[in-house]
Amino acid sequence: MSWNALDLARESVRSLSPYVPGKPVEALEREYGITQAVKLASNENPLGAGERARAALRDLGDSLGRYPDGGGFELRGALAALHGVAASQVTLGNGSNDVLDLVARAFAGPGDEIVFSAHAFAVYPIVTAAAGATAVEAPSRDWGHDLDAMAAAIGPRTRVVFVANPNNPTGTWLARGPLEAFVRALPERVIVVIDEAYAEYVAQPEYPDCTAWVARHPNVVATRTFSKVHGLAALRVGYGVSHESVADVLNRVRQPFNVNSLGLAAARAALEDTEHLRRSREVNAAGLAQLEAGARSLGLSWIPSVANFITLDLGRPAAPVYEALLRAGVIVRPVANYGMPRHLRVSVGLAGENARCLEALERALRG
Ligand SMILES: *Cc1c(COP(=O)(O)O)cnc(C)c1O
Repeated sequence: MSWNALDLARESVRSLSPYVPGKPVEALEREYGITQAVKLASNENPLGAGERARAALRDLGDSLGRYPDGGGFELRGALAALHGVAASQVTLGNGSNDVLDLVARAFAGPGDEIVFSAHAFAVYPIVTAAAGATAVEAPSRDWGHDLDAMAAAIGPRTRVVFVANPNNPTGTWLARGPLEAFVRALPERVIVVIDEAYAEYVAQPEYPDCTAWVARHPNVVATRTFSKVHGLAALRVGYGVSHESVADVLNRVRQPFNVNSLGLAAARAALEDTEHLRRSREVNAAGLAQLEAGARSLGLSWIPSVANFITLDLGRPAAPVYEALLRAGVIVRPVANYGMPRHLRVSVGLAGENARCLEALERALRG
């Protein structure tokens, strides 16, 4: 047998499948020989970055030879002010995925368990395996998190729990009362990460801002990102808000310059761009309504979503429909890897992009 590094990898990594990102527009155009493709596959902001973030990037040319501010002084200060915490409670990440990874590596290892829900974000099993820990998947309810089932999955070896609120790829969400009861019932030795990547889109009054919980629940880490509503996915900036001692632990395993200078500057500027935030939410609400109306007229059902995507139930294997959409120049996201082979996740785009997706879907379902 030939030499293969897979045989040398830790066992938890050997059984892992790599993360499959949404297909980039350039890849589709190259592979299918088409132009004008539309990508509604990675929950990106269809408006892109705001003016302020773009302007901040233009000023950076002179400092490209320097290392970034490894402590992220300005951005952490601005985030601390935004959330009413101390800067020492903010951990910056190369995307919030980085913060999820830091938590898994810092708090769990071989022999430890990390709990999350079925149909939850695909990065949780990856960071769990990379830490050498054991994943414990709790069953879902109505495609969303079943907090009772998650509580039942907690055992003496549990070190970390990941809760996505809202969840990706289902768009489901948890209300303040049940979520805080769940957190309160957890042993304090369990770190509970509440992943709020889509928080800014959620308009439900019962939706909790868990960055405010760290004062009374020291084991809570709330994570946020600049990749979604702020439209800065390319720059990879996210953060966690936590108890100061949790941030201290994460800082010990963090790569020294995990957030680059462009990301730091653009994120800082984006925080001040309240007009871009407002427009982004407005475009999303209109687009979500458009996609729901379109799905209804196609006779499809969907999982009710509060985020910037909607997951449609095609009532049949989704893979051929996904392929037909690709040939029509529309990229959406298959979610068979989440145990959802009949669903497709569609990110909310601009009105014209949503319309193209619905037209292509209609043809694909008929053909
Ligand atoms: C997109 C997403 C993230 C954020 O990813 P970044 O690394 O910040 O780009 C985190 N959690 C969930 C559930 C997501 O969907």
